[in-house]
Amino acid sequence: MEIADGVYSMGNEKGGHVRAFLLDDDTDLTLIDTLFETDARLVLEQIGRTNRTVADLKHILLTHAHRSHLGGLAELKRLSGATVYSHEWEADIVAGERKAQASARQLLRPYPGYLEVYPLQIAFALGLDDHPPCPVDRLLEDGDRVGPVQVLHTPGHSPGHLAFYWQERRVLFAGDAVCTWPSFGAGWPALNLNLVQHRASLSRMAKLDAQAVGVGHGNPLTRGASARLHSLVETIGQPL
Ligand SMILES: [Zn+2]
Ligand SMILES: [Zn+2]
Repeated sequence: MEIADGVYSMGNEKGGHVRAFLLDDDTDLTLIDTLFETDARLVLEQIGRTNRTVADLKHILLTHAHRSHLGGLAELKRLSGATVYSHEWEADIVAGERKAQASARQLLRPYPGYLEVYPLQIAFALGLDDHPPCPVDRLLEDGDRVGPVQVLHTPGHSPGHLAFYWQERRVLFAGDAVCTWPSFGAGWPALNLNLVQHRASLSRMAKLDAQAVGVGHGNPLTRGASARLHSLVETIGQPL
């Protein structure tokens, strides 16, 4: 699915309808997250459909180190040799040296569609969902540029959560700060670690005035995206 010129959304129902994004800037390919499945099949198929080869993939950017987004990473690194990037706080989880942290106190709080997410959250909280580990090659900070995108440090969902903005195409990649599955919201509540940071990150993203927003779980926002982000900021409560 092409959501803007040279921006392809990929994913199926696996990993909580997780999505990844392939960016073609007419020079190289840049990938944002790697989907759930360890064979990277969907990403490789999309590369083929854009008449590219896996050798054109130069940058693999990770929004954060949660299992659903890391499945294809090791295989894509092996096949492409692309540089792998994440925030410093997430890198040792990506490399398999530390477990991601769950926010257990929100685990039982219901929200629209939460029963569909619940099994994934339980597996996450128990640390049952390993991914094939892969070292991170380069650490990213707020304001960095990689390929066509600008890096935004957007903590809250996780401490080292990153969003990416392709300014010329006005497409924001919001990671798990925003979801549209199982319902539209500010990420899955039980996995957002710090709501004060999360709210500030959403507010910053809403001000970008993006035309399209790729989200971590569910289909991208392609209409009224900026207004919908603004509406989300108001839904984030005060700190628990
Ligand atoms: Zn996440
Ligand atoms: Zn996720």
